[in-house]
Amino acid sequence: MPIDNYFSGMNPNLLQTPIDYLKGVGPNRADLLKKELGIFTYQDLLNLFPNRYLDRTKYYKIAELQRNNADVQVIGKITHIKMVEQKRGKRLVATYRDETGVMELVWFRGHKWIKENLKLNVPYVAFGKANHFNNGFSIPHPELELLKEHQQKLRSALQPIYPSTEKLSNSGITNRVVSGLMEQLFKETQSKFAETLSPTLIKSLKLVSKSKAIFNIHFPENGDLLARATYRLKFEELFYIQLQLLLKNLIHKSKIKGYPFNAIGDYFNTFYNEHLPFNLTGAQKRVLKEIRSDLGSNAQMNRLLQGDVGSGKTIVAFLSMLMALDNGFQACLMAPTEILSVQHYTDISEMCKKLDISVSLLTGSSKTSERRVIHKALEDGSLQLLIGTHALLEDKVKFKNLGLAIIDEQHRFGVAQRSKLWHKNEYPPHVLVMTATPIPRTLAMSVYGDLDISVIDELPPGRKDIKTVHRFDSNRLKVFKFIRDEIELGRQIYIVYPLIQESEALDYKDLMDGYESVAREFPQPKYQISIVHGQMKPADKEYEMQRFIKGETQIMVATTVIEVGVNVPNASVMVIESAERFGLSQLHQLRGRVGRGAEQSYCILMTSFKLSADAKTRIETMTRTSDGFEIAEVDLKLRGPGDIMGTQQSGVLNLRIADLLKDGEILKIARSYAFQVLKEDPALQQEKNKPLKDTYAQMAKYKNIWNYIS
Ligand code: ADP
Ligand code: MG
Repeated sequence: MPIDNYFSGMNPNLLQTPIDYLKGVGPNRADLLKKELGIFTYQDLLNLFPNRYLDRTKYYKIAELQRNNADVQVIGKITHIKMVEQKRGKRLVATYRDETGVMELVWFRGHKWIKENLKLNVPYVAFGKANHFNNGFSIPHPELELLKEHQQKLRSALQPIYPSTEKLSNSGITNRVVSGLMEQLFKETQSKFAETLSPTLIKSLKLVSKSKAIFNIHFPENGDLLARATYRLKFEELFYIQLQLLLKNLIHKSKIKGYPFNAIGDYFNTFYNEHLPFNLTGAQKRVLKEIRSDLGSNAQMNRLLQGDVGSGKTIVAFLSMLMALDNGFQACLMAPTEILSVQHYTDISEMCKKLDISVSLLTGSSKTSERRVIHKALEDGSLQLLIGTHALLEDKVKFKNLGLAIIDEQHRFGVAQRSKLWHKNEYPPHVLVMTATPIPRTLAMSVYGDLDISVIDELPPGRKDIKTVHRFDSNRLKVFKFIRDEIELGRQIYIVYPLIQESEALDYKDLMDGYESVAREFPQPKYQISIVHGQMKPADKEYEMQRFIKGETQIMVATTVIEVGVNVPNASVMVIESAERFGLSQLHQLRGRVGRGAEQSYCILMTSFKLSADAKTRIETMTRTSDGFEIAEVDLKLRGPGDIMGTQQSGVLNLRIADLLKDGEILKIARSYAFQVLKEDPALQQEKNKPLKDTYAQMAKYKNIWNYIS
């Protein structure tokens, strides 16, 4: 069918008509619809999709009614009406009969109107919940409709139940009213809606047309058509989000040029061939290839690297930085905490020594004199690598030619900070963002669709699974004994306490009480204990950390400051106190601190007896699996996408019909089709893609798309 026919008989702007103009919507209703449901136009009403459907294919005979029936509908006649006095007020009771028996319809309110309007001995359809009492059934406040009207209605067997609010139903905008408005809308538009997907997509995915989908979502003709309508609309919703994200990515690539790193040179080759401390995993190699291909192209790299704790992101970062150095550029690595920057610096400067590369550390506690030297060396280009914290973002830090910026643990830095880094230099450097907090794939595809994503989904070989157990506080003595045995074997122990901002003082006390009881149990001089918490000066923290790293202390008592990445391979036990108070991803991060060496490692989750349902799920998940992606999926289910991504990305919550938790498969398909379409026709200029272009333009114009992405 030629595209134009899709639009025939329809004024394309009709759907932008203000809702006030719809017959049946007066100023009051218009106001409520706008305020309560955000419905401003015909289009908005059309996109109010039902939450669920009631099956109205079945009509019950009175004799068939069962005590456990849910909603039922019964065809019958009212033969008698009476008022019955009761303790408080009155009730109106109608006797309702069919050929098999008799039952009652009951009203506790609105008697006058009902009494005046009920017709005796005319066939009705009564719908509602049937209660059993005194050997009979009654339906309180039934939906009641004359059989004749019922049959004439543009109504389907599956009755939609629309989203509503208390205010709406209290103001008389019931589900039935909304259904009525929807019917009116379909009359005024003649149920014809412009096709919004291309014929190619419709054909290859065997989708129902837009008009058919929209009709069936509101007035399902049967279960099968409803399912097909739902699929098509979910696909469409996810498809346009992906199209938008991929377009952004394309535009970014074509507009934002990056320095092409053409050469793989001496630094990379020498290190790779002579100094690699281990064989790279397949996943590490694959990710390096992806990065290499980005860096070799003419576009600025904008890549997210996801890899579980311990999956070996650091070496990937280092090898990528060598690619920059080989092309005469500088590189930097930014980490969210001082401790983590120091750790990176220690590891990386070790490797740099072998290649004679100059590298410095810049953090909040760098001395002014050190800073001056670093600033100068950065500007004259004699300093090749810079590692540090937010301090890297200060205005005084100017690179001669920054070619690659790597950011570890991206969720701690805002996007604004990220872009600030880009503009340090004349041209933006390539950006690699590394995160150890796996984001479920479905979510990543929706919110990071404009970044390229690499995943390290394989742990280095020989890593033993961490044995994770749950222990109640009452078993503490046994846990202490276990710790003592491990120390006897030469291992080190973490004991972590929660620190949540709102109750910082309380948590601090918990930590100190905990520390004292640990100190009593493990007395000096036989045992040495480090303690690290947020209220300490950076230098003191660093000192305590170093004692633990060097093995001078056997136990590290800490708040969650150690969450993000210290590497002490000899530590084999992670005890998490009040584990019920930690989120899943935090627990997973903490557990990742052990299991870094050759020894069997353990994670002990200590809790009180009282656990909420969610806390139980979290603990159960932790003891069952160590797969970061699986844990992230559970986390997503428990907390919802908004919570996980923070408010910035809460737009993903505004999906109208698709559900990120359930529709991951459709999302994948939508993404791959969006990708294919743009690959073939990046500007959507081909005739067959006209519906896509038009819809996209329309969405942008009316800002629908910005609900999803902002
Ligand atoms: P993360 O991804 O959490 O940053 P790291 O880069 O700190 O992980 O790596 C964790 C540990 O695994 C380090 O001690 C590192 O040297 C080691 N490692 C990384 N890759 C490999 C590999 N391919 N084979 C063996 N050990 C590796
Ligand atoms: Mg790391």
